[in-house]
Amino acid sequence: MTRFGLVANRLHRQEGVGALERWAQTCEAGIRTLDLGLLAVGGTHDALVRSGLLAGHAPLVRLPYGADGGVMRLVSRISGGLAPEDEIDGVIYFVDPVDPSSLYPEAQALKRQCVIHGKPFLSTAAGAREWITIELALAGLALDNPLTPPAQQTVALIAHDALKQRMVAYAGLHFDLLSSFEARVATGTTGGLLNELAWSRGWPAGVPWVTRYQSGPLGGDAQIAELVLERRCHKVIFFEDPHVARQHEADIQLLERAVCSATEETTCFNSPAMAERWAQAMGVAGSAR
Ligand code: PGA
Repeated sequence: MTRFGLVANRLHRQEGVGALERWAQTCEAGIRTLDLGLLAVGGTHDALVRSGLLAGHAPLVRLPYGADGGVMRLVSRISGGLAPEDEIDGVIYFVDPVDPSSLYPEAQALKRQCVIHGKPFLSTAAGAREWITIELALAGLALDNPLTPPAQQTVALIAHDALKQRMVAYAGLHFDLLSSFEARVATGTTGGLLNELAWSRGWPAGVPWVTRYQSGPLGGDAQIAELVLERRCHKVIFFEDPHVARQHEADIQLLERAVCSATEETTCFNSPAMAERWAQAMGVAGSAR
């Protein structure tokens, strides 16, 4: 059984305002169809129960409050936990970027361990909704909500140095899918490699396949963050290297926070594994049409 950790910052636990309730409402049928296990941290669990959504969903389990180590336990379980049956497959964390608890070490470690283990980390309302549909598509089940057609979206492509060749390989493998976006943007060096790839694949010479911004360390992440804040970039595919100290860590986190403030409009895949599962689901959903 697939099991996800579930956390929502205070804002997102509020009735009628927060992303948690809307997500549970929109995805309730899909969550039940998947029989999706949900390990919800204390306050998040209580908010779900109060809403009456997912009532009687047996695989909804309560973890202790964040203050009692609920999020810390999720970090351990993403990494394998203490026994094989503890391991979870991903995390939905509705982040309010101005909530200090979203910056606690355990919150950062949770994302980092997801990236390291190639497990989904979904930090936005749009991302959490989309992922339920992805899981349904990959399981060959009827979709609860449509996957947004790329033709209406702009995608950002960013890769740290150790993962740049993975990004080029990913773009090569899914060239037609990525070409079907309304527009593509990238940080400088990644974008240069991707344009070379596109030209080698017959993209018109001299026409850039991606619009390149500055290199990440020179402010490219911040430029893409501004696009996200302006609701002009809807998907960020970011192959992060979690194993090195990053000189521009602040810029990387700035981009992540921008994504979370556009919670209804933007999704972020921060590992090759996540991006690959989305591309596969798009293939399945496309062939089902
Ligand atoms: P780059 O930026 O594509 O210019 O290398 C990505 C990064 O390293 O942040």
